[in-house]
Amino acid sequence: MDNYELQELEFDGKKVTAKLSVCPVVNCNCGDISLEFNSPDLPLEIDLNIFSREITADQDDSIAEDEDDNQLQQKFLRSISEKQWEVLFRCYMNMKQRQTAAARLDEHYYVFNFNGIEKEGELTTYCDVFPFDVPMEIESGSTVLTVIDYHCLNPNCGCHDTAVEFVNLRDCPEDEDPQSFGIFMLDYQKQTWDLMPGEEDVLPGEIPMQVLRNLVESQNPDFYKELAKHHKKLKELYQVRRTQAKTGSQKSGKKRRR
Ligand SMILES: [Zn+2]
Ligand SMILES: [Zn+2]
Repeated sequence: MDNYELQELEFDGKKVTAKLSVCPVVNCNCGDISLEFNSPDLPLEIDLNIFSREITADQDDSIAEDEDDNQLQQKFLRSISEKQWEVLFRCYMNMKQRQTAAARLDEHYYVFNFNGIEKEGELTTYCDVFPFDVPMEIESGSTVLTVIDYHCLNPNCGCHDTAVEFVNLRDCPEDEDPQSFGIFMLDYQKQTWDLMPGEEDVLPGEIPMQVLRNLVESQNPDFYKELAKHHKKLKELYQVRRTQAKTGSQKSGKKRRR
């Protein structure tokens, strides 16, 4: 399988074709991409970050060895227009989505907090583990809200409790936390909803629980099934990681005894 995609860009008013490749780590959302050109006017290769919009190579690695290449890279970076950044971003997302879809479960990269999950009841956010899955959304008037779901992965617990939060991601400035319109605790099997433990009511500016519940149930008929699927997939990956961690510690334990 090819690990790159041909992408048409513009440089100095001319169309150029780049081989675009993305970070190879499955589910890693670092935003690193690499562009390779085959044109005398352009650097041979340039490593960029799609979020910071900067050159990512470190000193001794891919920063061009000779000053000319270095200047060419800087010149190219400055020439990337807003529209082109958007094209690059979409391409990055598409490639990462395909990479994720093609990967085996045990190839997915994520470091779980075993202690927090098993001893402190910490919930795990689905989109942190699988950031390239298309999220569930609802429309509330003219606002699109993204559904963020948090799950209990404690292997000794058989609950179906999920915290579900409704946030406005689309209108969120890059360096701010998205606005939350409510977070609730629900049991996806019994389909019962509750306020979060210790909370008496929704906060000012939030949307009442019953309203959000009606919206999400009517706009996402598979809402509870999706949550069940998310929980199952997270638990499966958790099991894989837990087993790997155990095997790892047994090995080092043996070494120590010798
Ligand atoms: Zn990465
Ligand atoms: Zn539980």
